[in-house]
Amino acid sequence: MHRSLQISWAAAALVACFAASAAEPGAHVHGAAELRVTIDGNQLDIALESPLDNVLGFEHAPRTDKERGAVRAMAAKLRQAQNLFAPTAAAQCSLSSVQLESGALAPELLGEPKPAQPEAKKDEDGHADLDASFGWRCAAPEKLTGMDVRLLQAFPGFRKLNVQVVGPRGQSSTVLSPSERTVKW
Ligand SMILES: [Zn+2]
Repeated sequence: MHRSLQISWAAAALVACFAASAAEPGAHVHGAAELRVTIDGNQLDIALESPLDNVLGFEHAPRTDKERGAVRAMAAKLRQAQNLFAPTAAAQCSLSSVQLESGALAPELLGEPKPAQPEAKKDEDGHADLDASFGWRCAAPEKLTGMDVRLLQAFPGFRKLNVQVVGPRGQSSTVLSPSERTVKW
């Protein structure tokens, strides 16, 4: 009796969770982006979901050499993620993986070895997102208490970052702007 009650509560919570996430991070607003930070043991994961415009200035497949060059430069900058995120130095975190994906851009232009999805999703209204994930390993994760985020300096297209953190101290959220670039947890 109790058991089935618990299960239905869990199911209800899951549905509510999906509804909330569908309403929020899916929103495509130029200048804004979502950053999800997950700390699990010695693993630090940072996931960025952003309108492509914020990092590239356009949201279509490149048509000229200049545009192709801009895509490669953007990807190269994101792959140097140690310049974009500075976790607590004492935690000794080092970047272990970077994955980049966009419905508007060919994986090879982003430096990805193979297509993550053969037919990439594309917004019908001509907009496109960039999804980036950055994996880190930390030698002293107990000292990890926050990070500096330099994305807004590196890419002036960002005006606002909505940051969600899930870690050993629970869940928190904050908003970063050009004048506020530190996340603490
Ligand atoms: Zn757009």
